[in-house]
Amino acid sequence: MAEGQAARPTPLAATSPFELRVNLGANVPESDVRTALATGDMGFLHSFTTGSTVDGPGVRVVAWTSGCMWRCLYCHNPDTWTMSNGIPVTIANATAELRKYRRGLAAMSGGFTLSGGDPLMQHRFAAKLFAAAKAMQIHTALDTNGYYGDRLSDAELDTIDLVLLDIKGWDPERHRRLVGMDVGPTLEFARRLAARRRPVWLRFVLVPGLTDQSDDVAQIAAFAGALGNVERVDVLPFHQLGRHKWGQLGIDYQLGDVRPPSVESIERTCAAFRAAGLNAH
Ligand code: SF4
Repeated sequence: MAEGQAARPTPLAATSPFELRVNLGANVPESDVRTALATGDMGFLHSFTTGSTVDGPGVRVVAWTSGCMWRCLYCHNPDTWTMSNGIPVTIANATAELRKYRRGLAAMSGGFTLSGGDPLMQHRFAAKLFAAAKAMQIHTALDTNGYYGDRLSDAELDTIDLVLLDIKGWDPERHRRLVGMDVGPTLEFARRLAARRRPVWLRFVLVPGLTDQSDDVAQIAAFAGALGNVERVDVLPFHQLGRHKWGQLGIDYQLGDVRPPSVESIERTCAAFRAAGLNAH
């Protein structure tokens, strides 16, 4: 981090992750970005929201990191892909911000969720922030695609009370076409979380024509059902809320004609997870 940056007030203010945010960290020198990534003393946050009821149990504060190596065709926050789009925030400032909400979160049986982007792109920062949250007795949740799960040590994993794990597909080829990366590391991380008995909420985005193949859903359900630590499954219907960002960023958006899934399709998918003994919504 460059001299003087740590003293700057955190420009962190609650905002919607649906707002397009670009180049907020573009003035941070590349060498400082590398140092930040190696130490976790500074992170890059796309946005920061309070009052969420959909990112873990209770009412939650959510920090959305910037940086993601995946390229999901349905991503609704493509402005989080580039780390330098995020606001540079020191770990001290992020911790101080979180401290303000400590009592309220406890009263609302909530906690802190780190989402993204993918937070494990900045795994040192994530680990430090979770440790700080736990030291304040705040419930912690990590929302991740799991690809970089092996970057966290077992001790670091134990500071995370809940993992919101996105499994986006099963068939290796279809998964690669959908997100640009292999599914293997995600499944490996899921197995590791199961072996360590860490609670997981599985998230599955249902996209007509892309992820609704019944074979794939059944395989994911069987896999998740056998893990023994998946407390619930959220079937998330595809939507077009992030479409404008693709246009604004000048990225080719391939799903312009895809409609949200029908109620029947959502119910069928939930039923497949329930058939595997899971609690699906
Ligand atoms: S993993 Fe999440 S942030 Fe990354 S491309 Fe996919 S949907 Fe977007």
